[in-house]
This record gives sequence, structure tokens and C-alpha cells, in this order.
Amino acid sequence: MKIMKFGGTSVGKPERMHQVSQLITADEESKIVVLSALSGTTNSLVEISHAMSQSSKSEAKQLIEKLEAHYQQFIKDLLKKESSLEAAGKILQEHFEFLYIILKISFSEALNKDILAQGELLSTKLFSIYLTEAGIDHALLPALEFMTIDSYDEPQVGTIKVKLAQLIKQHGDKKIFITQGYICRNARGEVDNLKRGGSDYSASLIGAAVNASVCEIWTDIDGMHNNDPRVVSKTFAIEQLSFEEAAELAYFGAKILHPASIWPAQYYNVPVKLLNTMQPEAKGTTISAEAGSVGVKAIAAKDGITAIRVKSSRMLLAYGFLRKVFEVFEKYRTSIDMITTSEVAVSVTIDNDVNLPDIIKELEPFGTIEVDTNHTIVSIVGNEIAETKDVMKKLFDAIEPIPVRMVSYGGSRHNVSLLITRKYKEETLQLLNAGLFGL
Ligand code: ASP
Ligand code: MG
Repeated sequence: MKIMKFGGTSVGKPERMHQVSQLITADEESKIVVLSALSGTTNSLVEISHAMSQSSKSEAKQLIEKLEAHYQQFIKDLLKKESSLEAAGKILQEHFEFLYIILKISFSEALNKDILAQGELLSTKLFSIYLTEAGIDHALLPALEFMTIDSYDEPQVGTIKVKLAQLIKQHGDKKIFITQGYICRNARGEVDNLKRGGSDYSASLIGAAVNASVCEIWTDIDGMHNNDPRVVSKTFAIEQLSFEEAAELAYFGAKILHPASIWPAQYYNVPVKLLNTMQPEAKGTTISAEAGSVGVKAIAAKDGITAIRVKSSRMLLAYGFLRKVFEVFEKYRTSIDMITTSEVAVSVTIDNDVNLPDIIKELEPFGTIEVDTNHTIVSIVGNEIAETKDVMKKLFDAIEPIPVRMVSYGGSRHNVSLLITRKYKEETLQLLNAGLFGL
């Protein structure tokens, strides 16, 4: 059994759905096909929900009407047979009526989650009608019946496995199963989700739950690139990454894969393949237990970083200082990305500054606090980087003109991270591309 996950752009146009139907019938292996919402839909649903939360009912209504018109056109372009169009019309009616009803009741967080779930429900149901029209045998597996998160909002593979196995058993003879990414049920039994971009996470959890041979993530780019293709002119797709390398890249900014999706694959040892719907013959990127090669593999960047420096002479020869500093971040549920220390100061970075004012207030008794916002972490990722001859030298030679605020190496053997001001990001990525890849 394998998993094939298709992102929003891979199902966002009728002709893309057609392509997906070819890809999922290209071999005989049984498969679970995980779909995102059509591209743009989740963003629209976020806007609709936001308008409702602000009591801007007429704005919300307009947005719903616009989305509905888009879907009406979509089914006309997607389907040919009268009976399929009728079935699809009913689906649209069901889901859009639901949105119009919500307009009339008072808004809550639970309703927000219900609204956000509509995208994946629509994409899978419409795709299922399309497959039926094309004579492709399949079954729809409702994610809300097996994808669950616990009271800490964490999915438990064991629970998902049991529920999913029961559902699959009900369709003993089927080889193609379609299900929704992103959506799930929480510990209170309400509709919830795995956060934006969470369909990748769904796919990898499902892959772990069924012990899949491979978890294929189909997007609109030919794999994980050695550098950010939106910023840097010459980049190439990486053929092989270890789970550790992929986790660092996904976490530190490579947009192609949701960072949380690595752990289930790694823990249950399911290889992940990043493939391109538009260019299915391209090799893509394989992520597995093997790194493939030693040395630098890729560079990724993450914006919106805040650096905090705590300077205190009390830190000198003292123990327990770092614990007290870290406890402040723990208290405000703010995770730290990079850390560097000297004898008298510690610098940390965070990417979530909602609680920054409170954090600073609580850190003040420890010493002088300096805060630098609008920074970028540039991560150089690879296997045994520092053991590889000349990497450090090449790296620092390459970025000679760039002022660097923090450097972190040694936390893992896969990563060197630099903290720079956001305005130097493009230049830094380009310089590193030249210095480390000769491009
Ligand atoms: N549709 C959701 C989103 O846009 C989940 C996903 O596509 O992965 O965030
Ligand atoms: Mg995505």
C-alpha cells in the first residue's frame, strides 16, 4: 500500500484532476490518495471565517457567493455526464448551504474549524464523482472518522491505525482510497485541523498508520531544491535526503513540505518522495533513513525571526542561569530556534513574538535585554557538515560582506545556522549558492 498526496495546485484545475486520475491509476499497488483543498480555497475560507468573526456578515456572504461561483464553474469544466453534474451540484449545495447557515448563527472557534474543513471535503467529494464518471473504482474514506488529535492537539498514530484499518476493511476489494488531508477530529469530538499546510502531515501519519511502502507528496515543483528557487537564480532538485536533513530544511524554511510531516515517516520508517504533478517523470527528492552523501546538501531561510540577548555578569561562573532564562520561554509556550552563549550573555531566537512583551518583562531582572526583530535564519543543511573538509571555510568566505548576528553549529551534525538581518537574505542565499555549490 502506498500514499499519494496531492496539494492544492495539483487539484486546483479540472485538467489537473484529470492528471491526478492518471497518476493514481498508473500502477497496480493499492493506495490511499490524500487531497488538499483546491488552491485558494482554504485562504478564502479563512477570509470568510474572519469576516464572520468580525460580524461583517455582508462581506462574508459576498465571499461565500464568490467561492460558490468558482465551484459551479469548476464542476461544469470537470464533468461531462448529466448524472455526475447532478451529483456534484448536490455536493455544492450541501456545503454552501452549510456556510450560509453559519452566517446566521453566532461565531465560535469550533465553527471556524468547521468552516476551514469545507475545502478538503469539497475537493475529495468532487474528485470522487470525477473518478466515478471516468469508471475508476475507488472508495472515499472520511478523514473525520479516523484522523484524530488528543487533548494536546497531537495525533496518535496507534489510534489512527486502528480506526483506519476498520474503515479499510469495510471496502475489502478496493485498491484506491480517497481521503481528506488537513482535517481531523479533536479530543472533544469536534472538527479540527492539523494547521495550515497540514495535508502533508495527514499523508505521513496515514503512511505510518498503514505501514506504507512509500509516501508520495505531489506538488508543483520537482522536489526539494538546494536553495530557495524563488530567491536564487540557479537551483536544482536534491535526489536524496535523510529524515534529519529534511526535517532541518522543512523547519528552516523550505516551503515544499510541512515540517511536522517528517517525524511519523521517520519513526515508522516510511520513505517520503517529493514529486511534481506537472512533470511526473522527474526523479524528485527521496527522503529516507539514508543520507546518500556527505557534505552540504541545501540552504533554506526562515524570516520573521526575533533575537533576544540576555547579558548579565551574574551568568559568569554561575549555574542555573540558563534554566531560569528558558523557563520564561516555557511559561509563555514560545519555542526557541537558535541559541548561542558566551560567558556573560546568551542569545536566543524565536519565530513567534505574540508573547514577546511579557517575555521581556520577565527576563529584565536577569540583566540587560536587547531585542532585534526582522531577522532571518539561514540554515546550511547536509550530512556531517563540519567533518567535511573546507565547508566552514567556504561558507564564511562566501558571506564575507554580510554582517552575521549569530552562528550556531554543533547542535546536530546536519546544520549550520546563521542569523542575519532580513535585508541581507537574498544576497546571502545567492552568495552561498556560489560559494558552496559553485552556481
Ligand atoms: N488546505 C490546507 C491549507 O491550505 C491544507 C493543505 O493544503 O495542506 O493550508
Ligand atoms: Mg502544502
